[in-house]
Amino acid sequence: MMKLDTDIQFLKGVGEKRAKLLNKLGVFSVGDLLRFYPRTYEDMSKIKKISQAQIGEVCCIKAIVDRTPKESRIRKGLTIYKTDVTDGESIMQITIFNSKYAAEKLKEGEEFLFFGKITGTLWKKEMNSPEFIKAEGGDRIRPIYPQTEGLSSRTIERLMKTALLNTEGELKEILPQKTRDRYYLCNINDAVNNIHFPKDGDYLSYARRRLVFEEFYILQLSLMLIKCSGRGKTSAVIKDDFSEEFISDLPFTMTGAQERSVGEIVNDMKNDVPMNRLLQGDVGSGKTAVAAAVIYTAVKNGFQSALMAPTEILAKQHYKTFETLFKGTGINFALMTGSTKQSEKNEIKEKLKTGEIGFIIGTHALIQDDVVFSNLGLVITDEQHRFGVKQRAALNSKGDNPHVLVMSATPIPRTLALMIYGDLDISVLDELPPGRKEVVTYYVTGDKRPRVYSYIKKYLDAGFQGYAVCPLIEEGESEIAAAEDYAEGLRKGAFMGYSVGLLHGRMTPAEKEKVMDDFVGGKIQLLVSTTVIEVGVDVPNAVIMLVENAERFGLSQLHQLRGRIGRGSESSVCILISDAGNGEAKRRLEIMTKTSDGFKIADEDLKMRGPGDFFGSRQHGLPELRIADMMTDTQLLFESNKAAAETHKDDPRLKKPENAELRRAVARLFQKLRG
Ligand code: ADP
Ligand code: MG
Repeated sequence: MMKLDTDIQFLKGVGEKRAKLLNKLGVFSVGDLLRFYPRTYEDMSKIKKISQAQIGEVCCIKAIVDRTPKESRIRKGLTIYKTDVTDGESIMQITIFNSKYAAEKLKEGEEFLFFGKITGTLWKKEMNSPEFIKAEGGDRIRPIYPQTEGLSSRTIERLMKTALLNTEGELKEILPQKTRDRYYLCNINDAVNNIHFPKDGDYLSYARRRLVFEEFYILQLSLMLIKCSGRGKTSAVIKDDFSEEFISDLPFTMTGAQERSVGEIVNDMKNDVPMNRLLQGDVGSGKTAVAAAVIYTAVKNGFQSALMAPTEILAKQHYKTFETLFKGTGINFALMTGSTKQSEKNEIKEKLKTGEIGFIIGTHALIQDDVVFSNLGLVITDEQHRFGVKQRAALNSKGDNPHVLVMSATPIPRTLALMIYGDLDISVLDELPPGRKEVVTYYVTGDKRPRVYSYIKKYLDAGFQGYAVCPLIEEGESEIAAAEDYAEGLRKGAFMGYSVGLLHGRMTPAEKEKVMDDFVGGKIQLLVSTTVIEVGVDVPNAVIMLVENAERFGLSQLHQLRGRIGRGSESSVCILISDAGNGEAKRRLEIMTKTSDGFKIADEDLKMRGPGDFFGSRQHGLPELRIADMMTDTQLLFESNKAAAETHKDDPRLKKPENAELRRAVARLFQKLRG
């Protein structure tokens, strides 16, 4: 018997070279291999007649070999073996390339299941290099694994069989018996065996149910534990609600959604249980004003507040906004970012320590060890999904369990929010301030570019400004070179005589700042940019946007980009250029022209790309899911959420002996989450 933590290279059939390949797939131990689940299955249990199979279809045919395959050598290094097989009705030709071993298995008169793509003609169908097994006694449903160069699914399948045989009884049950009984979950051994080599379709779905459930359950339980560890009581209890006086002094009337959100947040802060709330609102929905009202209330109650933004530009913009919003309020606030002068930083830190500064705006600079608060009561993070769990925890630890509000402009579908935040409360700004002009969006092909350019120039001539978003670059290409080339092309070509600026991700913060300042100040008419403008920057005079290769962007990203315009009183236009001919890309871009509802777009996006890509790689700080699928396994997500809450209530610190294995599984995940 082998222990599960045995290095994978010691499994029979692996060795050093294969171990390296397996490592690439995230498999380091024998236990990892058992948890390396198939991507999909070849379902040999659904057998087709040769006559029913369509050309181009991938299917399974049960047929008898007419004669032992004939070898013919095409050229040096290429030998093929051909034979005919029949299902009693029709004949199909099988071709095998270069594998004498495989060909010799096809003995005359024996019946096999052939799995592969149908080619040939309607008169004589063919299958090239099919997978095949003896019709009797073979596995009907075979696993197909994610592969890597040099390591085929078949090889992994063989290793998996060896691993399962050598580790019998080693897998420990993680899920509590109670939970398994209540939610109809099979035991771990049956689940793992059947996920790889299912006896039939029912066994497979039973196995999958358990493993999906387990994955969701452990993740959610971990999040619940993280949330409760060190989340005792807070001393930042708000006594008086000052939000009304602040709101009535605003130059505009708050929307109903804004007022409601302020109410929910202030209510939370009246509790000695620290607030843990997400404020969600589409671009332009007025999150900042909501934040200002609650910061005002916290500070007036004697508690310091911190607002953390993901970039310098955003932090600086917030600072400017608050200069207007907090004018005459007597609230002492400051800005601290990476580029703040050391002397000034020291002064700010001193004043934070003494409590002289009531409200600080900043970037990651705020979470450095030497930043100390006298009485931090409220922490707000903007565009929160750009911060990992760890960074948020760091800022939170600077107070006595401060209240936490995260603001996000990416409308997160409910299922995903539940997953990421567990029992986080959510306030939604589902109402745009009045007078907001909708951004009209067009989708055109590249041959219309000259017309698009003249159209943009009309706006620039009228004194407006615009954005041109460069194509996203394929991996390996240089983003900067492409952006520079693109800007240069416009300067020398269609936009000669106009002032064309360039902003890209590799510029230093100071360089970016300079460009943004020039743009805000009107010195730049057309700003060529990579996606760095995606978040938050506000230039009301910019009313037109062009997006090149729009099909390469995610829908949510396009929506964010588009949110950069339409921020003034003028109506704005967004033009998506794309030559992607295929149906799927077209359909996506058409969604952009039809709706400006961020939630609808986010849902579509999630459906089409899955949660991994949704936030960009790993921005949400959650580990990759191995088997569960956020979109299609919603029912199990809810069931496991309930189960996790039950376990958490029953054994909050997982100290009961029967939960020992569960505690270990959670601890392993904890390490990943805390990274
Ligand atoms: P978000 O951060 O949600 O994208 P902002 O807070 O930046 O949105 O608000 C966008 C703009 O709308 C700002 O210029 C802000 O002053 C303005 N604004 C916010 N709330 C209202 C309101 N209720 N009525 C009119 N204008 C508003
Ligand atoms: Mg904002």
